[in-house]
Amino acid sequence: MILYNGLTKQELITKNYNHIYNHELAHKSAGGQFAGAISIERDANGIPVSGHVPIAMPVLDKNNPQKTIDHANIVIRAALAPSDPSGQDYKVAQSAQSIKMRAQAVKNEKTGKKLDLTA
Ligand SMILES: [Zn+2]
Repeated sequence: MILYNGLTKQELITKNYNHIYNHELAHKSAGGQFAGAISIERDANGIPVSGHVPIAMPVLDKNNPQKTIDHANIVIRAALAPSDPSGQDYKVAQSAQSIKMRAQAVKNEKTGKKLDLTA
């Protein structure tokens, strides 16, 4: 029997699967309506190696910047929801953050407020 770091293949499959699934489930739960189905990729030996949940990114809606901000907030929370966010997770959070800032600027313009650059 081949051992993987002291585990049998089946134990490793279960361990990896649970780890990846819990990570993806954290994304999915926090992403709510914007998150898609969890998928888990396996290597040639059938061992789960990675997973992902598609998430709908916000698009700047100049007529309704608050909607964009709310959407971005959910995406940021969803991207950083697992206890061990990946590099890709941080990238998703970052791009949602920049869309949020653009939406915030549009909103401030609309309400006649100037951006307070010292804040
Ligand atoms: Zn992730």
